[in-house]
Amino acid sequence: MLGLMQDWPLLCHKIIDHAAIQHGEREVVSRSIEGPVHRTNYREVRARSLKLAQALERDGYRLGDRIATLAWNTWRHLECWYGIMGIGAVYHTLNPRLFPEQIAWIMNHAEDKLIFVDLTFLPIIEAIADKVQSLEKVIVLTDDEHMPESKLPNVVAYESWLNRVDGDFRWKEFDEKTAAGMCYTSGTTGNPKGVVYSHRSNVIHALVSAQPDALGLAANETILPVVPLFHANAWGISFTAPMAGAKLVMPGGRMDGEGIYEMLDNEQVSFSAAVPTVWLMLLQYLEETGKKLPHLKRVVIGGAACPRMILQKFQDDYDVTVFHAWGMTEMSPIGTVGSVKPQFSSLTGEKRLDLQEKQGFAPFSVEMKITDDENNEQPWDGRSFGRLKVRGPAISSSYYGGDGKEQFEEDGYFDTGDVAHIDKHGYMQITDRAKDVIKSGGEWISTIDLENLAVGHPEVAEAAVIGIAHPKWDERPLLIIVKKAGCEPEGKDILKFMEGKIAKWWMPDAVSFVEEIPHTATGKIQKIELRKQFADYVLPTAV
Ligand code: AMP
Repeated sequence: MLGLMQDWPLLCHKIIDHAAIQHGEREVVSRSIEGPVHRTNYREVRARSLKLAQALERDGYRLGDRIATLAWNTWRHLECWYGIMGIGAVYHTLNPRLFPEQIAWIMNHAEDKLIFVDLTFLPIIEAIADKVQSLEKVIVLTDDEHMPESKLPNVVAYESWLNRVDGDFRWKEFDEKTAAGMCYTSGTTGNPKGVVYSHRSNVIHALVSAQPDALGLAANETILPVVPLFHANAWGISFTAPMAGAKLVMPGGRMDGEGIYEMLDNEQVSFSAAVPTVWLMLLQYLEETGKKLPHLKRVVIGGAACPRMILQKFQDDYDVTVFHAWGMTEMSPIGTVGSVKPQFSSLTGEKRLDLQEKQGFAPFSVEMKITDDENNEQPWDGRSFGRLKVRGPAISSSYYGGDGKEQFEEDGYFDTGDVAHIDKHGYMQITDRAKDVIKSGGEWISTIDLENLAVGHPEVAEAAVIGIAHPKWDERPLLIIVKKAGCEPEGKDILKFMEGKIAKWWMPDAVSFVEEIPHTATGKIQKIELRKQFADYVLPTAV
């Protein structure tokens, strides 16, 4: 017997319809690429997205066509998304922090036909356009007044292109399983792999992540996604914010401490989301200027492990509650959020921080397990490590073109490549990437734990740990440090600071100072690069 409910496909453009009907006046504020702050609202965003869909159709774009964007978070970028999805085409976000050759490779792999590009990134496209065979047209996200000269043959300013149609258009109807968007993972090994979101998965992810124990978004919030649209759908906020009717504040191209602070303060932002490095810059700016955060109530921190020091500073010095979250591009991206379950609500001080340092528990629709190298499930005892595997309706079932098959298992689980433990309450803690974990004398040492501890030293700006070959123990940890400006800590001071806070045999064998630690395009420490830099390094304990 079938249920007798209406067949209402979960299509992404229904989200912007809802926002326009129920929260039409709610503002979308952006720092424009041209400079000034720009203000619009959900009704306008929807109207212009419809025009965009109409213009795309007039130009011959159809269901399934891949349409790239290379842009910061602004209202125009959001319009592109909803307009592209509204004709059943596929938005494909490109990460401008990648090398131009990588961008060209990804565009060729996805066979992008058209690109919407920010003024700032036009030179990248000019440099690679002739290498992307499928590319037919370039639309620069600006108006005629700011349109630069370009040697590209088929290039046009967004505003004048949009104004050639009248907006009298209806969204297309299609199956909810139709592809809505694409995003390539940064791929620390091998070529990048394409994640393909469907309309259904994006809508389900938005419903799930708006729950109180996930992002907890509501109409009375003002949210600033620092996390870019090109980093896993801005953690879904591009869907969750309009679905909830939250005011949306977009930072454009300025991600420095002062730039973010200005938007937080001027727009009275109550909630924000970013990777730890962004928050480190903001906290440093606040320390230098003595400024406070009177409006900000909550931040979500993810993309990389959140050092305890960030949790502590936000909560103790600025009265901002931190939610530590874990996820992946392949998971749309939210996997777990560190909300506090009722049995822990009375925890305070260090004990509460211990809990918050974990990446949290999975919301409905994310199923997790941890397994050893023989695929035996490990207990949820908070100690047993294992490879973290996940499944659910907003998690990849394969990569575009069938790449990376080995990560998708027969029982429907996706192997995240992360190593974690899970406690009996369901709280998961990432201890490493499987390929970064240090194997010392047959036991595993978590590089993340060591890094988080070292960065708590007052004279340390950033820390990374890698395994170095050791004749007796196979591998031992080397701690790599970037000093804070004007500070001269010695290696032994930092190790002393770490003493007593970790098992003795986890203690790094040596400390090395560097000017800079390399990062990937999504802000993670580039361990592969560090391992290359230290390929000839010999530990003092190894001689
Ligand atoms: P991406 O797809 O670029 O978002 O990268 C996903 C990967 O980032 C995960 O597989 C983890 O290795 C890492 N990651 C994300 N969030 C966290 C977190 N809160 N703590 C530790 N690692 C994280």
